[in-house]
Amino acid sequence: MNTKTTHSPSLAARYIAYGEIVAFPTETVYGLGANIFNESAIRKIFEAKGRPTDNPLIAHISDIAQLRGITSQITPAAQKLIEAFFPGPLTVVLPKHPQVPLVATAGLQTIGVRMPQHPVAKQFLAACGVPLVAPSANLSGRPSPTTWQAVREDLNGRIACILKGDPAKVGLESTVVDCTGKVPVVLRAGGGTLE
Ligand code: AMP
Ligand code: MG
Repeated sequence: MNTKTTHSPSLAARYIAYGEIVAFPTETVYGLGANIFNESAIRKIFEAKGRPTDNPLIAHISDIAQLRGITSQITPAAQKLIEAFFPGPLTVVLPKHPQVPLVATAGLQTIGVRMPQHPVAKQFLAACGVPLVAPSANLSGRPSPTTWQAVREDLNGRIACILKGDPAKVGLESTVVDCTGKVPVVLRAGGGTLE
């Protein structure tokens, strides 16, 4: 496969519409995205990375309204965290909507969701018009990439497109918080602080 590199969010979004996978910049690290409702596109992420299929992916949204289509309940704990920290390096885990394929969540009935604040990520997600699922854009077992050149070193020839942007500022994955119960639980420390 010939991997296209571009600065154009709208061109990159066209690959998503065709069912392909695209690496894109966010404030945490570069992500590797697929349409959350396209099962075969999601499988391409696991193949390209060599990612174990029991490792769930995080959904990325450009608009709060998109939460309705991918979660079945927004708990009070999630509501508060979303108001305080979206957009930013925080992922909230919520019960998933039945229309989200189980391949995205590694068979779990819950889904992690985050809204990036990076301007290029926002433009790209908005141009896609659907939420994307996206892990970091590296081969499984390798460090998460903070530059598009590092993405190309790992994934050239394995993915359809790299959307080029500046180096990722945070350089750490998002903080993941389980919001399915009464009390939120931090599952993974990351780019957001505990406070
Ligand atoms: P990444 O590999 O950076 O894309 O982040 C994925 C990680 O987020 C997983 O390995 C889990 O630690 C966490 N995660 C994603 N979705 C869920 C979920 N539904 N429930 C619990 N943890 C999740
Ligand atoms: Mg990763």
